[in-house]
Amino acid sequence: MRQKRAKTYKRVMALYIQTFNFRQPFQILVSHDLLLEGAKSDLNMHKQFLTVVQGECKPMITQCCMEALYKLGKDVQRTTDLAKTFERRKCNHREALEPDECLKDVIGSTNKHRYVLASSSSALRVALQVIPGLPIIHFNPRGVLVLSPPSTATIRAKNKLEEERRVEGSKEMEGVVDGENVVGAPTVAAGSSAATAGSRKKAKGVNPLSVKKKKKAPPVTSASAQKGRDGEGKKRRRDENDDQEEGAIEAPAEGGLGVDEEGGQETVSVDRDSLKKKKRKRSKKSAVKDAIAALEAEAKEEADARAGLQAGSSGSDEE
Ligand SMILES: [Zn+2]
Repeated sequence: MRQKRAKTYKRVMALYIQTFNFRQPFQILVSHDLLLEGAKSDLNMHKQFLTVVQGECKPMITQCCMEALYKLGKDVQRTTDLAKTFERRKCNHREALEPDECLKDVIGSTNKHRYVLASSSSALRVALQVIPGLPIIHFNPRGVLVLSPPSTATIRAKNKLEEERRVEGSKEMEGVVDGENVVGAPTVAAGSSAATAGSRKKAKGVNPLSVKKKKKAPPVTSASAQKGRDGEGKKRRRDENDDQEEGAIEAPAEGGLGVDEEGGQETVSVDRDSLKKKKRKRSKKSAVKDAIAALEAEAKEEADARAGLQAGSSGSDEE
């Protein structure tokens, strides 16, 4: 269970690394309220952060959050001392703002400094969900520090970037195929659709299956007297076929349809290889999707637990 969660976090953090250029050590902007909550259970916060972001991290605290801790006085001295060990994020708010307002301002509308937000304020977390590429850490009702599932804004930005990269890739391919300068390849208005149409056409052109079938119709002869002459003819035809089959292997075969008595075996195995590669690619992608789904399921459970607590019933006490 623990192991599984670590894997999930790693995959979700990989999303932020690949799409939003996050780098280790991850800068964790820690709100004072999250530290106070952690102090209740006497948790080693640094270790907790390490576990959730699955990598090196640098906890930071803003001047205003620090101010909020000072205001609470000696009662929270240990938390204040811990916060003092974090890197101080100079927010330059001359008069200390409410911590939530300060954090909103520091993160800005695009999270350009690539912070990971660690906060216990659900109002703040909800308000900042509109910012793409902002990982959020919080305590769930069982007191476990967790990574929130990526927000809709984050997923949208990720999908958009992937699409852009795909179109860029197919444009380059076009440049290569047409023998044009790749860099100066003409920008096609509907790049993606044009590219797919082109590749489909090409596949049609080299479709080896129709060609093969026509040419391969060895005359069935029962007369043994004709065997010699026929055999020769057969052989010549076979050579021709071999050439075509070689072409077929090099060409991007569309599926595993080409099962024939001769040579067909080879074609199929090549198809299987490419299918395997495709599958591997797909499973890598779906791994991230699965990880996100896992976090979302957890978040739903959490919401249900909260609802349960509000209704007065005691939540489940696993783990
Ligand atoms: Zn501030």
